[in-house]
Amino acid sequence: MTPQTMNAVLSDRLFEIKKRHADAFSWLDGQQAAMVDQVIAWSKINSGSGNLDGLRRMGETLEDAFAKTGADCTLLPLSPVRMISLKGEDQSLELGPCRLFSIRPQAPRRILLTGHIDTVFAADHPFQTPRWLDDQTLNGPGVADMKGGLIVMLHALLAVERSGAWEDFDFSDFGWDVLISADEEIGSLGSAAYLAERAAFARIGLTYEPALADGTLAGARKGSGNFSFVVRGRAAHAGREFALGRNAVVMMAELITQLDALNGQRSGVTINPAVIAGGAAPNIVPDSAVLRFNVRVESDADAQWVREGLMAISKDIGAREGFQVSLHGDFNRPPKPIGPRNQALFDIVSACGEAMDIGISYRATGGCCEGNNLAAANLPNVDTLGVRGGDIHSADEYVLVESFAERARLSALIIFGFAHGAFDDLLIGEGA
Ligand SMILES: [Zn+2]
Repeated sequence: MTPQTMNAVLSDRLFEIKKRHADAFSWLDGQQAAMVDQVIAWSKINSGSGNLDGLRRMGETLEDAFAKTGADCTLLPLSPVRMISLKGEDQSLELGPCRLFSIRPQAPRRILLTGHIDTVFAADHPFQTPRWLDDQTLNGPGVADMKGGLIVMLHALLAVERSGAWEDFDFSDFGWDVLISADEEIGSLGSAAYLAERAAFARIGLTYEPALADGTLAGARKGSGNFSFVVRGRAAHAGREFALGRNAVVMMAELITQLDALNGQRSGVTINPAVIAGGAAPNIVPDSAVLRFNVRVESDADAQWVREGLMAISKDIGAREGFQVSLHGDFNRPPKPIGPRNQALFDIVSACGEAMDIGISYRATGGCCEGNNLAAANLPNVDTLGVRGGDIHSADEYVLVESFAERARLSALIIFGFAHGAFDDLLIGEGA
């Protein structure tokens, strides 16, 4: 088939599916106000990645909501992860559990939907309450990233599952898994293994990060890693024994200059020295300094180039008399390049958008998310199927509320299309 005939065939199929499940789509339109009420309620529950109590409350709220789909819920506990504290000490960080909701777990043809309940706003952050900016725009923590997205996902699944009862549709060989994490905003260090495990059972992945305000979805994504450098020197009295000291803060300043000099040397690579700490009091030569930094890359070769650069800096600074350097961390999300298999899914989602009168376009981004993890596990995926919104990770975060029903219709059509086998001959490659 030429791409043109393929498009025509697909749009005929989608037209039929839309007609057959018209009741499900009009039910979704009727849920618009309820979805907005729900995002307001969920936004008020603080679920910063470190707020275990808030994550538990948000997780239980989610369980109640997803119970309406008929799915079973399994709690997947995560082991604590190791992190370097700003004092340079090895620390362990407790994580909230993942939740897995599954429908028809024996069915062979599966979709994996993923999302996260955690936000970047800690319990003591001033941004805690949603408020209306105008009658279409709601500002609030997580309204776009991604409590709003979870509500879109939930309602698309509700529409699909309810239609089984209304429209006598046989779903027996089709099932889905929803994996919801509570550590996405700190890099999915704990949930990465579950993402990879569930990806192996699915044919396509759908993730509910927000689309841009104009509806543009994310295409290729960079990979990302969080690292720390710890420099140790020697403490001394700043007056009496200054010459005996080895100033770790000064040496860290030199290290950061070398690190920043890597920026601009290789296209697609950026390094962001972000958080520094060190020293105890003005009259003591500081014996330790810590730097946290983030690195973004476009390819595995870039990542290797960065690792070598970091090792070289480490070696240079570590060779200075009286100083020790240690490097911690690694890349936690591989890059998500768009190959033919993922492109085939992008084209299918574009066709679903067209069938719903929603223009879909894709743009590469330096940001990263669970879609990176799914891609690394060989699962073609679209990762910005949530609401339209913007200014995420800031107190200006907003959602354009008309996008709730709009995006839920889009997802429902993708899921119905998959359930009916409408994409089987268009997706490239078998299984995962
Ligand atoms: Zn997110």
